[in-house]
Formats: sequence, C-alpha cells, structure tokens
Amino acid sequence: MSLVMKFGGSSVATARDMERAATLVESSLDQAPVVIISAIAGVTNSLSELPFQSDAMRTENRTHLEAIHMNVAEDLFGKPLPPGLDDAMASVFDSLDSDMALLRATGFDESVAETLLTYGEQLALTLFATYLFQRHCDLRRVDARQVIRLNALGAVDTEPTRTAVTTQVRPVVRPGRAVLLEGFIASDVTGRPCTLGRDGSDYTAALLARFLDAEKLEIWTDVPGVFTHDPRSEPEAQWIPEMTFEDALDLAERGASVLHARAIEELREAGIPIRVRSCRDPAGDSTLIHLRRHSS
Ligand code: ASP
Ligand code: MG
Repeated sequence: MSLVMKFGGSSVATARDMERAATLVESSLDQAPVVIISAIAGVTNSLSELPFQSDAMRTENRTHLEAIHMNVAEDLFGKPLPPGLDDAMASVFDSLDSDMALLRATGFDESVAETLLTYGEQLALTLFATYLFQRHCDLRRVDARQVIRLNALGAVDTEPTRTAVTTQVRPVVRPGRAVLLEGFIASDVTGRPCTLGRDGSDYTAALLARFLDAEKLEIWTDVPGVFTHDPRSEPEAQWIPEMTFEDALDLAERGASVLHARAIEELREAGIPIRVRSCRDPAGDSTLIHLRRHSS
C-alpha cells in the first residue's frame, strides 16, 4: 500500500512552492509516497509555442525557459548550484535543442513537436529531486517515459504500463522513501517521448495509484479542493467538500477545471479515493472524491 501525491504546475512554480511540496512529501514518508511532478506553471504552454515561432521569438522563448528554471534553482540552492545540477539541466536543454533542430529538419513533424512538450516535466523533476536529495530525503527517481506506454492509437497501453509499474516502480516503493516520476510524459510505440495530452499529469498519477493499489491519490494544487466553477476567476464558485466519482466526472466533462476525466475514470474503476488539497493551506479545506456519498 502506498500513497500517490501529485503536484501541479502551480505547486512547483517557485522555490517557495518547491519547499512547501518537499515538506509535504517528507511528512508523508511513512506512507511510502510515489510523487508525480508537473512542469512549472506556464512552461508547457511556452514549449507548445516553439514550433510556431519565428527564429527570433523561438530564441527568446528558449532563453526565457532557461531563465525560469535557473531562477528557481538559484532561489532554492544559492550559488554555486549543487554539483551535477548544472550538467543535468544542460543535458535536458541539449536534448531540447536537438529536437528543435530535428523539428526543422523534418519539416515540423508532429511527433517531434510533441516531444518538445516533454521537457517541462523533466526539468521540474530534476530540480525537485535535487532539492529533496539536498534535504537528505531518501528518494528514487523513475523515468516516466519508461513506465507509461502508449499504443498505436495514442491511448495508454494498459498491460505494458501495468507491467512497467509492477517491475520498475513497485520494487522501489517503501516507507521512509519518496519515489519520484514526471507527470504527463510517456513513450509512444516507436519509443519516442510523447505526452498524455494537456493536463495529463493527473492521469499519470491515477495510473500509478491504480497499478500500485495505492490507498489514495492526493492532488496538490493552489486551491483548497474542487469548486463548482474556477475559483481563481469566478468569485461565486462554491467549494465542494465531498463528491462521488460520477459527480466529479460530470463536472470535468462540463469543462470545469477539476481533474483530468481519465484520471477520475481510472480511480472510479479501482475505487481508490482522491483528495484534492491546497499546497498553500495543507491543513485547510479539501475535497474528497470517492465511491459513495458518506462522510469518512
Ligand atoms: N504540464 C502539462 C500541462 O501543462 C501537464 C500537467 O500539468 O498536467 O498540460
Ligand atoms: Mg491540472
């Protein structure tokens, strides 16, 4: 039994957010947490613009992406950065650059454009893992591209994914240790890095929770749970303390920013409860999504 904790882009956006997320992971270590990290807020959007930009804009975007990550790194660690971090970040940016060159060479091949989207999660996880390591947290990092497999139709290939979770993730999960994986990213049938579609980190977390038989999934975000509307833009939004998977699915399908619909479906089948909570107020309100409408 373990706990899956997913941190969205707003929960890892700044050094302060990463500190909060690290504290939450550390306080759950006895529950053998498997931690899923999204790209820093805004980064996937910037990556998605790269293929459509002029050379000058693309260079500017690329520089900005590097600055976002370097700023968080310097705020977290000060200078000099911990040994290995500079190299680890540089190697992700090198791959990004070669994919940008490949994109051009292939006449803007869609699968290469998709691969560009995978770098945000890799960078955020590199920072977060280095930070937890510096805090002396026992951790293992597993490459989500080796675990989440898509079929020729672009959907999750259930059996290879289940097998990869069983053979690569389950053996390293244990109380006292955090196991870290990138959200959102996967491999396609040819082995090329690809994604689960926008907002797919919830789906990654749900797949891990399901195939690990986790006790629950915690979604850590910047609002205290699920609301009838987006509370960031609609002041009349009402907080929902508890809901069934069906209600959550209805809300997701009507376009409310709740959770990825596939994540809800995955856990409804497995009956694994989901708790949506705010990183900024971990002891405050939250929403429980579960099978039946009763308090627990
Ligand atoms: N970073 C990805 C996105 O922005 C996945 C996620 O955050 O869920 O869509
Ligand atoms: Mg999300």
